[in-house]
Amino acid sequence: MISLSRGDLYRTLLDLAAIPSVSFSGGENGAADYIYSRLAELDYFQRNPSFLRKLPAEGDPLGRCAVAALVKTSPEMKRTVILTGHFDVVDAEAYGPLKHLAFSPEELTRLVGELEIPDEARADLATGEYLFGRGVSDMKSGIAVEMGLLAEISRTGGFPANVLFLAVPDEENTSAGMRGAVPWLVKLREEWGIEYSAALNGEPSVGGRERPAGTVYVGTIGKIMPFFLCVGKEAHVGDYFEGVSASLLTACLALVLEGAASTSEEREGKSFPPMA
Ligand SMILES: [Zn+2]
Repeated sequence: MISLSRGDLYRTLLDLAAIPSVSFSGGENGAADYIYSRLAELDYFQRNPSFLRKLPAEGDPLGRCAVAALVKTSPEMKRTVILTGHFDVVDAEAYGPLKHLAFSPEELTRLVGELEIPDEARADLATGEYLFGRGVSDMKSGIAVEMGLLAEISRTGGFPANVLFLAVPDEENTSAGMRGAVPWLVKLREEWGIEYSAALNGEPSVGGRERPAGTVYVGTIGKIMPFFLCVGKEAHVGDYFEGVSASLLTACLALVLEGAASTSEEREGKSFPPMA
């Protein structure tokens, strides 16, 4: 069953984590299929099958899909909150000799102490309260919570907005999943007669000993991926100043942009990360 109970969330997380949905590997649609079929079991989507959709990213070479699921809390309700997240993960190389267990979190957690891990991770492991595995934190647990929340609202109603769950592939690569989903969001807004009021992303927050996890970030999020084409001019090494080096242009751009304080936004005394 999909719900917000601890046991149901844990089982959904283990199911999701077992799917090797590595970004741009061809494995991502396995996660989309799982999410779609689990949501299709809900009474709400049995009664309203048109509100559960796979959304193919146009022109995607791997034919990848996002999954959208809308729960309307009343026929007149237009206001809609988007719950979003990604179901792809980065590859398992970092797990070294245990990489074959990266998608089996319970087994991996039993053996992860054999790896060279930071002291902080070792202390976490010793508490018995942590589950290790590719995608467990980033962000299949977030997807499981959002699926649970959507399921609860579909059963109980009584929420002051519609809820649109949107799970996308390819966040760890070039964001093809979200870029492919945006035209669909526009189309579905017309088709379903809804308005988007807010979006919540279930990504993990980055905590630490002095700043515990559980932080909620309010504002806008996103990333800019600028593209530069540096064109050089060929010349013989003996005539260096007759030519222009494209790699030198690229290196100068990196020097100007990377880590530059001027590229870090500031708000209410807090600075955000610079370009990297
Ligand atoms: Zn993430």
